[in-house]
Amino acid sequence: METINTVNDLRMRVRAWKQAGLRVGVVPTMGALHAGHLSLVRAARAQADRVITTVFVNPMQFDNADDLTTYPRTLEADARLLADAGVDVLYAPTAAQMYPPGFATRITVSGVSEGLCGGARPGHFDGVATVVCKLFMQTLADCAFFGEKDFQQVQVIRRMVADLDLPIEIVTCPTMREPDGLALSSRNRRLDAEQRKAALTLPRTLEDCAREIAAGADVAQTLAQATARLAAAGFDPVDYVELRAEADLQPVGKMAPDTRARLLAAAWMGSVRLIDGVPVPPVG
Ligand code: AMP
Repeated sequence: METINTVNDLRMRVRAWKQAGLRVGVVPTMGALHAGHLSLVRAARAQADRVITTVFVNPMQFDNADDLTTYPRTLEADARLLADAGVDVLYAPTAAQMYPPGFATRITVSGVSEGLCGGARPGHFDGVATVVCKLFMQTLADCAFFGEKDFQQVQVIRRMVADLDLPIEIVTCPTMREPDGLALSSRNRRLDAEQRKAALTLPRTLEDCAREIAAGADVAQTLAQATARLAAAGFDPVDYVELRAEADLQPVGKMAPDTRARLLAAAWMGSVRLIDGVPVPPVG
């Protein structure tokens, strides 16, 4: 595996691949890699001839200075994992390269980026859309791989790709979890043992509520109960627990037989913000 730090070197490498007619896949990450990221790499390897993984802790998408400074950075370990996983290029640009003096462009995707994490983290999805668009233009990848765990993020990216006619295919991969059900996340390593145990209430609550809603329980009441259960487990604050349509993220107040919906939540355990989401089984 080759590690590349500048866009010029990256372009040279990708140009050679493209001239050889190879299909290029990209897996954008912020590093501190875990098995969830590696599942995206596996999907990329299966669907592309060459795989680039980007590791860049994007300052533009952090609305909270503490979260940015404490975000885990483990580039050496990441490089080993990616090499073992068969990645061809690790692209790790610096913030100064991505945002040189005078940088003044920001991509705002309205609609799907409003509410949920967009409501709780002002400007977050502008930062995500801007950096992902830059990474697409820098890598000129044919396909890009994202995790379903960040469900709203995938919708924002799909909207941007459609609206800006970006010639790239977006592939979504399922959420990878610890054996006990907690979604893998780079931020999990900042949980102490007690918080780690309490954090399990997040996926359990979502699974239970999804089942209840599918069985006909009142949606508003179930969401309120879920929020209370998370608060009782020590989540503070609970940013949101919401039922949204999979297609367009519109709120769902009542399940119909053809409704495809997801229960989505974000909540803080100590100084760690966790997000998760599960599909609601079809009713009827
Ligand atoms: P991050 O490094 O957190 O920005 O995540 C990079 C990519 O990995 C995003 O597309 C995430 O949705 C995806 N990802 C993060 N956690 C998981 C997980 N547990 N399972 C599958 N994909 C994940």
